[in-house]
Amino acid sequence: MGNVMIFSFGRGRSDQGRVGGQRTSRGFTLVELLVVISIIALLLSLLVPTLSRSRELTKQAACLSNLSQLNRAWMSYAIAYRGYVMRAFTGTGYWALSGNTRETITGGILYRFTNSVEVYRCPADTSDHYRTYSASDYIGGNNWVPAPWNYVSVLELGKIQYPHETMILLEENDPRGYNGGSWVVYPGGDNWIDFSVSWHLGGANFCFADGHVEHWEWQDPRTPKIDWFYQSTPGNPDLARIQQAYIPQYVKP
Ligand SMILES: [Zn+2]
Repeated sequence: MGNVMIFSFGRGRSDQGRVGGQRTSRGFTLVELLVVISIIALLLSLLVPTLSRSRELTKQAACLSNLSQLNRAWMSYAIAYRGYVMRAFTGTGYWALSGNTRETITGGILYRFTNSVEVYRCPADTSDHYRTYSASDYIGGNNWVPAPWNYVSVLELGKIQYPHETMILLEENDPRGYNGGSWVVYPGGDNWIDFSVSWHLGGANFCFADGHVEHWEWQDPRTPKIDWFYQSTPGNPDLARIQQAYIPQYVKP
């Protein structure tokens, strides 16, 4: 072992640090220093992913809290309007206006029940959109999906058949500049129409008509790669799950 002296503390004049001819002061050798550096590097390599994961979990929790607040506002709206749910599209008279400005949120019919522009945006949202969340077309929408998959959107709270299974809001990153319209998907089959996000540790967050929120981790590696409308992913369990949450009681034609 080579005794190359790197640091030495307490050394001064050449006669100091000697007792009975033995050197008592001792520095770190190069090897010792390298060992210490490797241990620090190892600890950092263990710590950095943990910190990064904990940051992501914080964002995920904040997003779920946003969805809970929007959900309470959604419920308050329905109570204030004798059981009629907020309209899910974008434009005048809907929950948000069209476009990507702060005013598209404050001008929406839900805003007076939230009084917060911030709750409309997920902290993990990587886009420049003011609004991250989109509303399911099945609840309060415009019967958007064409035949043979057609359905009639539910407009009244009391007519939601399975509130604990029916999603009302979810995360979207519409590549057209803002989340336009409502969020739609075919209730069955292999094709998506709209799609969701995967920025929460490979998954996304949802809220349901009974007020609860959920984080879903995508199972199919094709799901996070979807970046445009009408993609086909045969046998995709994520699509099946989202179709089930879209219209739980739907019977395939
Ligand atoms: Zn989120």
